[in-house]
Amino acid sequence: MKVIVLGAGIVGVTSAYQLAKSGHEVTVVDRQTGPALETSFANAGEVSFGYCSPWAAPGIPMKAMKWLFMKHAPLILRPKFDIAMLSWMARMLSNCTSERYAINKSRMLRLADYSRIALAELRAETGIAYDERMQGTLQLFRTQQQLDGAAKDVKALAADGIPYEVLDRDGCIRVEPALRHVRDKIVGGLLTPKDETGDCFKFTNALAAKAEALGVRFAYGTTVKALDVETGRVRGIVTDRGRMDAEAVVVALGSFSPLLLKPLGIGLPVYPVKGYSLTVPITDASRAPESTVMDESYKIAITRLGDRIRVGGMAEISGYTNDLGLARRSTLEHSVTDLFPGGDVSKASFWSGLRPMTPDGTPVIGPTKIIGLFLNTGHGTLGWTMSTGSARLISDLVGARRPDIDAGDLAVSRYG
Ligand SMILES: Cc1cc2nc3c(=O)[nH]c(=O)nc-3n(C[C@H](O)[C@H](O)[C@H](O)COP(=O)(O)OP(=O)(O)OC[C@H]3O[C@@H](n4cnc5c(N)ncnc54)[C@H](O)[C@@H]3O)c2cc1C
Repeated sequence: MKVIVLGAGIVGVTSAYQLAKSGHEVTVVDRQTGPALETSFANAGEVSFGYCSPWAAPGIPMKAMKWLFMKHAPLILRPKFDIAMLSWMARMLSNCTSERYAINKSRMLRLADYSRIALAELRAETGIAYDERMQGTLQLFRTQQQLDGAAKDVKALAADGIPYEVLDRDGCIRVEPALRHVRDKIVGGLLTPKDETGDCFKFTNALAAKAEALGVRFAYGTTVKALDVETGRVRGIVTDRGRMDAEAVVVALGSFSPLLLKPLGIGLPVYPVKGYSLTVPITDASRAPESTVMDESYKIAITRLGDRIRVGGMAEISGYTNDLGLARRSTLEHSVTDLFPGGDVSKASFWSGLRPMTPDGTPVIGPTKIIGLFLNTGHGTLGWTMSTGSARLISDLVGARRPDIDAGDLAVSRYG
């Protein structure tokens, strides 16, 4: 079948690779000059199959109020009269109940666990190197209250059969030896040992090359203007370089996906939540992390990527803007130098990206009311982590095969 994948981020490229492997004739269309040049460019590098939760959780509205007034705030809110923003925020708040949290988390864990298997198989079959490590995520607590608060996460991990270890200060230092220099700043941690790390940009580029070798065509520098739909069936796409025919189209445009779907009457509650990262060259490896450390106080992830430290985080709700604020850079610099001062921050590169967030934290994967039109988008905080499983799912759904895991509750129809 002739399939067009819209978007050459991690989600589009993994989808294209799987679709090509299933025998389809695949074209990927992206406005950029190459793969992974938008949100998949410099994320925090966590491939956290276990450390995987929706942001909408019980207690978050109260915490969010406090965060707004912190010096190094994890949340920045710039409200404006934008219906999409306001309705997305209202839906996010309605997901902050224990009942919704449990449903959303179990959907995310199902997809993340499937992605763990899919990534291992993909790595084995392609031999792609991407500064990968398999040493887990350490969620680091600076206060006893944070450590005590981890009890509900531990319960959820145990219920879902995800391996974990609750660590005291010495346990954290055993896992991340550089923390010995700051032992007084930490109280304990929660380790999810099956989590991995890796450079999403390197991975996406290497996989795009493998996909090309399978026959996938990449049309870069091409902006998609509209979907061509006739009598309830997708016929192709309209771009700034002309029209292209397709029997199936997979939308993987990250935060920009809803803009293309709106004219077709498909309401996709995906909204951009901006995050920032800093990539710091390592000068003293004994003061650098081994894997991902999630600093719970600031909600900042600090990850080892080869000879670099990647520090990423913050949630800024301000619409479709990529501007870089110096205050955000100083928050990231503060976080990394406070725990892992083994890098040269003066030589760091600073970046921002728009997380394609759904209000329930779970991506949207599956068919739409238009025949031949599929969505693989809305991966929010964990698109790198969940990309490989999502790609397999979408490839099975496009090919009308039964997926390995239940996907019925991942489609856009779940929003009614
Ligand atoms: C600061 C930060 C830290 C993060 N850390 C992690 C992490 O540690 N682990 C993790 O798993 N995830 C993380 N994420 C989330 C992850 O990066 C995203 O979920 C993921 O990159 C989304 O991939 P995507 O392919 O859906 O979107 P994108 O990478 O944005 O790809 C969409 C593509 O669509 C193209 N496009 C858009 N509109 C058009 C159009 N009209 N025409 C043509 N092309 C178009 C764009 O050019 C882009 O290439 C983080 C995100 C941020 C911002």
